[in-house]
Formats: sequence, structure tokens, C-alpha cells
Amino acid sequence: MKTEYNHLRVKIYDIFITTIWLVTFFHLAYFVLFYIIFIPKLIIVEIFSLFIYAFIITIIKKNPHSLKIASYVFQVEVTLHTIICIYTLGFGAGFELLFLAFVLVNLFISIGYASITKFLTFLQVVLFILCYYIIPDTDILSSFWTKFLYVYHIIFICILAIIISYMLELANRLAYLNIQQDRDKLKDISEQDPLTKLSNRHALQNFISENLVNKNFALIIADIDDFKSVNDTFGHSVGDMVLVRIANMLKNIFRHEDFVCRWGGEEFLIIIHDVDKNSAVNIVKRVSHMLNTTSFKHNENIIKTTMTFGISYYDGYSELDLQKMIKHADDLLYKGKTTGKNKIMLD
Ligand code: GH3
Ligand code: MG
Ligand code: MG
Repeated sequence: MKTEYNHLRVKIYDIFITTIWLVTFFHLAYFVLFYIIFIPKLIIVEIFSLFIYAFIITIIKKNPHSLKIASYVFQVEVTLHTIICIYTLGFGAGFELLFLAFVLVNLFISIGYASITKFLTFLQVVLFILCYYIIPDTDILSSFWTKFLYVYHIIFICILAIIISYMLELANRLAYLNIQQDRDKLKDISEQDPLTKLSNRHALQNFISENLVNKNFALIIADIDDFKSVNDTFGHSVGDMVLVRIANMLKNIFRHEDFVCRWGGEEFLIIIHDVDKNSAVNIVKRVSHMLNTTSFKHNENIIKTTMTFGISYYDGYSELDLQKMIKHADDLLYKGKTTGKNKIMLD
């Protein structure tokens, strides 16, 4: 998802640059056109505009984060250029339509700069109306060139509309990915135990429904023996350290596709799948052996712990009753506790 996100950002950036190149090209065409019709004032305006576009392209190439600033310089250029052209050539050659067309561009840059965008949109609509009422008619352009420019502007606006709607679609997708990323982060937080960084009990149901449909698996509840005495002897923070070390040990022993969660307090719930009952017991024996032969050091103290395990097994065929399986593993665990601890219990 991260790659799609970055890919989209690059795409929007590329399209923006292409749009600026396109507008630059249209200005070049204006330049040629005003040269042919010979309106010196507008020829100078076009040269000035081309400089502005060279500036815009330079700043976004240097720093892709200046996209929004570039959009505003772009808007100011379009607004001033349009006013000067309408003032010189009068209403009717289609320049006035650019005010309305650039409201579309505002739509795109509105994300993040809502108030400035509203102001710009309002300004452009007002300018359109003002130009209509205030600017006197001129006869600088023949009816041929007026029509020509009008069609030219309609073509330009159509191309711009297509580009902007495509950019909006990409921006929507980007916003959606953002929301999805936040949702995934929240899900991770809500399904993760903050101390051990293992999953917590809320992650169990999802794991089962996503990975264990019609599959055999062993469900193991493991409880640290006499953990209270670790806390009582060495303090709660040392108890925490031991919990984290045991959690890391479990993380390392089981496969990535297995499920290890902190079920609560000093209890862990583990699910190993695609193994028969004997293999499951052997794996648990390995865990138990590892814990029996491991000691945790804290300052000068050596802390040794053991665990009792209750295992219930699902064959993948009969009806799955998860609560029943958990209760069964818990009952076996209890039996192990009352008959000496440091045991692996199953039937
Ligand atoms: P048993 O062998 O019967 O399981 O004895 P136990 O002492 O492990 O069990 P008990 O239920 O009497 O006590 C559990 C202890 O685990 C008490 C509680 O303070 C401790 N514990 C639970 N969660 C945490 C934790 O997050 N950090 C620390 N340090 N201790 C915890
Ligand atoms: Mg315990
Ligand atoms: Mg317990």
C-alpha cells in the first residue's frame, strides 16, 4: 500500500508538471498568434508569462514540495494574464472563460488550503462578471480571430478539464489510502499488547477467520508458574522485563504464520496450524525445555521460570467452537497447575 501511495504522489506531481508544460505551450501559441495579429503589448505580456512558467517549472523541479506555492503563482499569472487580454481585446474571444475554467484548478488545490481557495474561486467568478459589465467592446480583433481564439480557448479548457478530473480522481485515491493507513495503524494499536508487542486477545478472532478455515490446529494456553513470586522478590519492573523476554522467546520459536498473543497477565495463547497432535506436543516440549534451561539475569540476580501448558486440538473437520477449545485448554492448564506445574497437559 505504501508503494501505491508513493506511486500516486509521483503521478500527481508528474501530471502537474505536464499541465504546466501544456499551459506554457499554449502561451507560446498565444505569442505566435499575437505576433501574427501584431499586438505588441500582448507580445510583451506573453514573454513575461513565459518567464513566469519557466520560474514555476524550476521551483517544482528543485523542490517537489513547492507544488502548492507553484499552483498559486500559476493562478496569479492566469488571473492577471486574463484581465490584461480581456482589457486589450474585449469580451468574446474566450479569455473570460479562463476565469471559470480555473475555478476547476482551485478544486484540485483546495485540499489543505480551503480558505484561500474559496477566496480565489470567489474572486475569479467576480472578475468574470465585472469584465462582462465593465470592459468596453473593442474592434482590435477581426471576427475571424475572435472566433479562432474562442475555439482555441474551448479546446484548452476541455483539455484542462480532463486533466483536472483525472488529478482529482488520483487525489481521491490518495486520500482513501491515507484513511486506510490510519485505520490499519489503529487496528495494529488495538490488537497489540503495549508491553510485549505481541498481539493481544482482540486479534484472535481475526486470525482464526483469516487463516484457519477448515484447518487443523493446536490451541495452547501457557501460564508462567509462580510469577507472583518474581514480582514479590525482584519488583514489578523486573517482572515486566521477564514477561518481555519470554514473549520474545515465544516470538522466535514459533513460525511467522503461527499466532502468539498475550492472553492476559502472565498468560499466552498460541495457535500452531497444519501440524498433527504429536508434532504440536513436540513443539511445546521444545518451548518448555528452552524455558527450563534459560535464566534471566537482572543485576546480580538470576531468575528462572517455568510454564504450564494446556493444549486443545482441532482436527479441521468437526464444527469449530473456539470458546469451548479455550475453556478446554484452560481446564487442562488448571489441572497442570494443581498437579505440580511445569507441565504440558492434553488429552
Ligand atoms: P501460578 O503458578 O498458579 O500461575 O502462580 P502465579 O503467581 O503465576 O499466578 P497468580 O495468578 O497468583 O499471579 C499472577 C501474577 O502475574 C500476579 C500479577 O501481578 C502478575 N502480573 C500480571 N500481569 C503482569 C504484568 O504486566 N507485569 C508484571 N510485572 N506482573 C504481572
Ligand atoms: Mg501464573
Ligand atoms: Mg495466570
